Amino acid sequence: MLTKIIAEDLIQRAKHILHHSDKVAIISHQGPDGDALGSSLAMADFLTEKGKTVQVMYPDSYPEFLSWLPGAEKTLIFEQDSEACESFLKKADTILCLDFNQLKRMGKLGEIVGNTKAKKVMFDHHPGPDQFADVQISYPQFASTSEIIFRYICRSGCFDEMTLACAECVYTGMMTDTGAFTYNSNNEEMYFIISQLIRKGIDKDAIYNKVFNTYSADRMRLMGFVLNNRMKVMPQYHTAIMNLSMDDLKEYNYQVGDTEGFVNLPLSISGIVFTVFFREDTDKIKISFRSRGTFPTNKVASELFNGGGHLNASGGEFYGRMEDAIRLLEEALPKYTI
Ligand code: 5GP
Ligand code: MN
Repeated sequence: MLTKIIAEDLIQRAKHILHHSDKVAIISHQGPDGDALGSSLAMADFLTEKGKTVQVMYPDSYPEFLSWLPGAEKTLIFEQDSEACESFLKKADTILCLDFNQLKRMGKLGEIVGNTKAKKVMFDHHPGPDQFADVQISYPQFASTSEIIFRYICRSGCFDEMTLACAECVYTGMMTDTGAFTYNSNNEEMYFIISQLIRKGIDKDAIYNKVFNTYSADRMRLMGFVLNNRMKVMPQYHTAIMNLSMDDLKEYNYQVGDTEGFVNLPLSISGIVFTVFFREDTDKIKISFRSRGTFPTNKVASELFNGGGHLNASGGEFYGRMEDAIRLLEEALPKYTI
């Protein structure tokens, strides 16, 4: 049995809005990850089964290793197909915002969403939500938005209707946001949920292989390169930083998602509790932060790089040169107690 942690009135309000909606847009954040796809495709499957017209859209594209997820082929990428996204949003009764809590996490799509009349329902697990949704189901104590979606479906009395495809999406999101249950993964109810997903027929070993064991040789070589040539270990701050320029990425035939997980690697060095990874993008430097224990990566992300996220995993951006982004961090390190 699951504890009823999500407030009953929030469940009922979301259920009421969805019950009275025909067209539902489901949106997740820029740089969509396993939980972004998992939660949005799980919800899309659930609502499609209920007879709704559903369209999932992401601001930009998702990594190839998530393309097998049921329904991924029907999603829209705003960067590639803005007209189709806008035309659906104009007609949508409801917009579900999944796995993010600030409009800016949708990039340009955020402005359009902010200006629509559609009801907005947020399902998310990041701290400090902006107030833009009509119903805000925001619970940072859950390790993934996908877990929140599972709980929502159960609390709506619809566990029996949940399809295998939906269960596979939920499991993928729960698995990816916990590093395959190696962090944020001590909540016993998580394992009760997994048992229920297995009852639905998921093959958790196969899902692990599809997500984590389908990398390209180029990606493995890029990983070797970054560890060998672009990693700086600073034992005095218990910190390791890594960076990759666009030229480095080009050299290894970079594909979206290839650097996923790199930021975690130096955390396996003894004594390192904070890691930062800088990746040069076309117009900015994208920065990822990870930590072990109580060091708040989201504090660094928001104070230095206009970002945010969770205690142990967050992200931010820097508009400028790589060396300036790295200098900003290095000069600030002494003021944080790591
Ligand atoms: P990643 O490093 O995997 O891109 O992101 C780690 C976590 O930080 C995710 O939960 C993600 O949603 C959040 N995050 C990543 N980039 C940003 C950002 O620019 N702003 C905010 N607020 N959160 C971010
Ligand atoms: Mn998430």
